[in-house]
Amino acid sequence: MKLSIEATRMTRIKPSASIAAKALANELVAAGHDIVDFTAGEPDFDTPEHISAAAYEAAKRGETRYTPTSGTVALRDAIRAKFARDNGLNYDRNQILVANGAKQVIYSALTATVEEGDEVIVPAPYWVSYPDIVLLNGGAPVIVTCSQEAGFKLTPEALEGAITAKTKWLILNSPSNPTGAVYSREELIGLGEVLKRHSHVWIMTDDIYEHLIYDGLEYVTLAAAVPQLYDRTLTINGVSKAYAMTGWRIGYAGGPRPLIAAMDKLMSQSTGGAGSVSQAAAREALEGPQDFVESSRQAFEGRRDLIVKLLNSINGTRCLTPNGAFYVYPECGAFMGKSTPHGKRIETDKDLQLYLLEAVKVAVLDGGAYGLSPHLRLSFATSSQRIEEGCRRIAVALEALR
Ligand code: PLP
Repeated sequence: MKLSIEATRMTRIKPSASIAAKALANELVAAGHDIVDFTAGEPDFDTPEHISAAAYEAAKRGETRYTPTSGTVALRDAIRAKFARDNGLNYDRNQILVANGAKQVIYSALTATVEEGDEVIVPAPYWVSYPDIVLLNGGAPVIVTCSQEAGFKLTPEALEGAITAKTKWLILNSPSNPTGAVYSREELIGLGEVLKRHSHVWIMTDDIYEHLIYDGLEYVTLAAAVPQLYDRTLTINGVSKAYAMTGWRIGYAGGPRPLIAAMDKLMSQSTGGAGSVSQAAAREALEGPQDFVESSRQAFEGRRDLIVKLLNSINGTRCLTPNGAFYVYPECGAFMGKSTPHGKRIETDKDLQLYLLEAVKVAVLDGGAYGLSPHLRLSFATSSQRIEEGCRRIAVALEALR
């Protein structure tokens, strides 16, 4: 007899490593430890005042009731305008879906479409949740490793080699969490050439870090770079990262009508529409003044330069300069096989993560959680002072390894 309360499908997955690491860092801070926390997956800024005010005004107007499952008309129209303005993508209103964060968009898309055994191509390093959401829905994640030498990006050859008759989806994330890699228009066109040859493959592009892009690079999304793929691409985005709105839980997508309809049907029997006041706030974020997006982008670019410089000045670490998002993914192979001052051998990046937390109170994530080791993932969504202090401590800890 089965004793566990958990359904069998739950045994296929593990809790989100990034959420768990953040929770542990928070616990240690609450217990009085001086932790330098590089685990944050969210901007350290507050939501701009005009956005919060729009939510309050909506509540006062009585916009506190259920909304249509796929989102209010006003927000969906703001999203359509955003896609046209920023991405050159045109969608009808019934091609837009709003959900409780981009995470729910991804979850709904996979639940609504994946059959038992369907394959979903996930380039690694990947955002921790992709493989587990695939597994939970009975799919098989096909992990394609993208090396540091290739800038952590999927190549057309590697994509071609991963596609089989069972491939249902490719998940593409640019700028990437955890590496900050950004695909250029030419690179997307190269991947598009492969995808055009395999008409049974759908593509999910996770563009949540779209506005956090550096070095003057142009942001391009796949459905715009390769219009022939528009009919089988789900373009996912959200307000969490660009507008410091992670707690408001609003993500959205534009895509082919039959797919959006299937996701709407699923949400109508699970969560219903996203929160009404959050939707009013998201509408203001997309339609109101955009200066916060640029000022926070500039702040992140300065912090990126600082953290890359400091990490690369430590003997043994090698850190590529990310072109987007707010993460760095330094390689730490030089420390594998070394021992701590207490005589514990560092065998994996997970060991190194634990050592940094115990020895110098610096919280980071291990590359293993993101599908490519030996690496660490550090978020630079924290102040320059904390970045300097954290890197100083990391240097002390790494130099003490023998
Ligand atoms: N996609 C990526 C790549 C992310 O890093 C995150 C959050 O960390 C999400 C999606 C989820 O965003 P949301 O807050 O909209 O659910």
